[in-house]
Amino acid sequence: MNASALISGVATAIASGAISVVDLTAPLGPDTPVLYLPPQFGKNTPRFKMHEISAYDGNGPWWAWGWMELGEHTGTHFDAPSHWISGKDRPDNTTDKLPPRDFVAPAVVIDCSRAVAEDPDFLLTAAGVRAWEAEHGEIEPGSWVLMRSDWHHRNTNAQAFLNADENGPHSPGPSVDCIEYLLSRGAIGFGSECVGTDAGGAAAFEPPFPAHALMLGQGKYGLASLCHLDKLPPKGALLLVAPLKIVGGTGSPVRVLALTPAG
Ligand code: MN
Repeated sequence: MNASALISGVATAIASGAISVVDLTAPLGPDTPVLYLPPQFGKNTPRFKMHEISAYDGNGPWWAWGWMELGEHTGTHFDAPSHWISGKDRPDNTTDKLPPRDFVAPAVVIDCSRAVAEDPDFLLTAAGVRAWEAEHGEIEPGSWVLMRSDWHHRNTNAQAFLNADENGPHSPGPSVDCIEYLLSRGAIGFGSECVGTDAGGAAAFEPPFPAHALMLGQGKYGLASLCHLDKLPPKGALLLVAPLKIVGGTGSPVRVLALTPAG
């Protein structure tokens, strides 16, 4: 099939409902949970805030508009390589410089929801990924690897979402050997339903925060605060992930859409 027929086939399948467009994005508003860093790590990101410019009133009689205050890494968002010190010297490492073809890529979904329900500190390991591959086939190079945890059900409650106690946050994520393995498979990035791509306890890993340090250090990407990964097949979805073209941006809130076979 030629490219033109492929594109019109996709458009026809979307229109007929044979292909579903699934929104993997959390609502972005003042209640959107943001990462909380302990003071020794420095400053925190502000929460989202909308400021009104006009609302069909004396400030603009026929129109409504606002301006936003938000961190680059707020809500459902994309991590660019420049976000981490390991990726800071990579060429074209900011949101305005990334090749647009990287914003359209297949996704595999590794379902860890049952293990996470038992243990919020659950780590997806390389062995766990290999077990998934034994069942579903190898992860193809250029794929997003998305960790389904069903954590997005906590997204409306910041306390439950961050799940911190006196020992720090407790949320699932990838182990160091998991990220090393995904890089060896040629993954384009790692995605999580939690506030960031790394596990709540990942500050104590070696290296700390491997999904950031290793993925971004290799010029790959991250996706955090994803929703509804339970609506995707283990394999066969196509992800559309286009960060805002922020000049010098280290990341961006993003609307993440998945094309999936309906049914
Ligand atoms: Mn981030």
